[in-house]
Amino acid sequence: MQEHLKHPIFNKISQVADELQVETYVIGGFVRDIILERPSKDIDIVCVGSGIELAKAIAKALDIKKVSVFKNFGTAMIIYQGWEIEFVGARKESYDRGSRNPLVENGTLEDDQNRRDFSINAMAICLNKDRFGELVDPFGGLKDCANKIIRTPLDPKITFSDDPLRMMRAIRFATQLNFEMEAKTYKALHSEKDRITIISQERITDELNKIILSKVPSIGFKHLFDTGLLNYFFPEMVKLYGVEIRNGLGHKDNFYHTLQVLDNICPNTDSLWLRWAAILHDIAKPPTKRFDPKHGWTFHGHEDRGARMVPEIFKKLKLPLDSKMKYVQKLVRLHLRPIALVKETVTDSAVRRLLLEAGEDVDDLMTLCSADITTKNEKKLKKYKKNFILVEEKIKEVEEKDHLRNWQPPISGEDIMKTFGIGPSKEVGQIKNAIKEAMLEGEIQNNESEAREFMHQLGITMGLNLV
Ligand code: ATP
Repeated sequence: MQEHLKHPIFNKISQVADELQVETYVIGGFVRDIILERPSKDIDIVCVGSGIELAKAIAKALDIKKVSVFKNFGTAMIIYQGWEIEFVGARKESYDRGSRNPLVENGTLEDDQNRRDFSINAMAICLNKDRFGELVDPFGGLKDCANKIIRTPLDPKITFSDDPLRMMRAIRFATQLNFEMEAKTYKALHSEKDRITIISQERITDELNKIILSKVPSIGFKHLFDTGLLNYFFPEMVKLYGVEIRNGLGHKDNFYHTLQVLDNICPNTDSLWLRWAAILHDIAKPPTKRFDPKHGWTFHGHEDRGARMVPEIFKKLKLPLDSKMKYVQKLVRLHLRPIALVKETVTDSAVRRLLLEAGEDVDDLMTLCSADITTKNEKKLKKYKKNFILVEEKIKEVEEKDHLRNWQPPISGEDIMKTFGIGPSKEVGQIKNAIKEAMLEGEIQNNESEAREFMHQLGITMGLNLV
């Protein structure tokens, strides 16, 4: 392990710890990430003594002015050359059933490792000089890293029941690291799922967002679904599951379709909100599902209904209710539009309408649309992909010509009123809309002089007089 502790910071911690004669270890995620060769800049240090005193002494030795002390938690943090180093004294924890906040008392390294959530997160490396680089791995974390296994150190039922957030963490790590869940651990996720109700939605959503930001988020969603956890905080998504068959006609399973769209979009975007749009794009399929003997299964209006569901889902999940929510809502509302273009003949006016509504987000909408093409029919897939490229080219072409992304009406209502000497009235709205329609249909170009000429003609036919 020594080769991973070459940075002078570890040497410094070692020296100071020896001077204070306190047993000191680097522990948890940092050790796991060394073994898994994942770069990390967060170091957790645990010592058998006062973490705060050790942090202060190290800050002094490194000439660091600022030590952030969290007295209530007995922790202290310093930042050094971009490394975030947190210090804590080894502790022993015992839990009360009603809360995830344990009773805490000072303890040994062993006590401290016992309170950790997973074997891979419980490894420690000693920093004291005589044992520098020695790995202390009581639960076989090293082996679990090699075999890619998530396992709790102690009885998983107790571990999860004590702090149910660990259930979300188990699934999050399985997703981020692409690890399997050990059988007993997985079973306990199932049996203890009800305990998730004592966890605040913010904490749950934090973990959920980490799952969504992983390379293959479907891994996590499948675990959340299979264990029954998802139903506690996101029942709308659970409702997407299943296939109904009538008159021999089935529809696709929208839960797995959604997961495929989500996985598809990941290589093309790291944006959490575009990924959320992928999760929510078909969310209103269950409430809009109908069976029509003539046309089979339909989901008419699921894009609008879905967009209307977005604020309540965001509110419940404690996601931000600001422009990010509006953005997701817009993409959900518009998600069928490029697909419709891809499936039919592409006209300039349809592309203009799309550009006008999607504005700045048209590229993201196209990314979502592309991910939404999940047909298994090779022939259809080929056709859609070809048409998709055509739509992309058309968007580029129309954009260069008409500059519609941030479209503002070339003639304002004020202008219309002045031109015809009229006050605010229904005619003003009609003229404004007619100018927009003419531009979208390609009857006039998107510029002021053509719009003005059009307005004059239209006003006259409406019986208005030029001032
Ligand atoms: P990441 O930085 O990716 O979130 P991490 O493992 O460093 O991973 P932290 O939340 O920073 O995650 O936790 C640091 C360490 O603290 C973990 O490795 C684990 O040993 C321990 N830990 C964190 N949360 C819990 C918990 N709820 N129960 C038990 N141990 C925990």
